[in-house]
Amino acid sequence: MIQNEPDLAIVVDRILEELNNAEKLHPKWPKDPIHAAAIVGEESGELTRACLRWVYEMGEHEDMETEAIHTAATAIRFLLNIEEYKREIEAIPPFISYP
Ligand SMILES: [Mg+2]
Repeated sequence: MIQNEPDLAIVVDRILEELNNAEKLHPKWPKDPIHAAAIVGEESGELTRACLRWVYEMGEHEDMETEAIHTAATAIRFLLNIEEYKREIEAIPPFISYP
């Protein structure tokens, strides 16, 4: 848990620790940016949920911290892989227009 007055070094250290753990636990990262961004978005959604619970349901402050760390770590991982992403247009279904 981040102490009362989190400083930048402590926060960055936690993010890098989470990044390291995530890379060990889930060594594969998507090769396309849409799925990679979806992982970042999933963590961002968990952060929003943790904040909603803290505000409205007496949720835990630590849950907001944890999910913010997860979101930051996945965003960094997105950036670390940004040169590897492929455009696989043929893998995407043709655009369907609805009347
Ligand atoms: Mg999470």
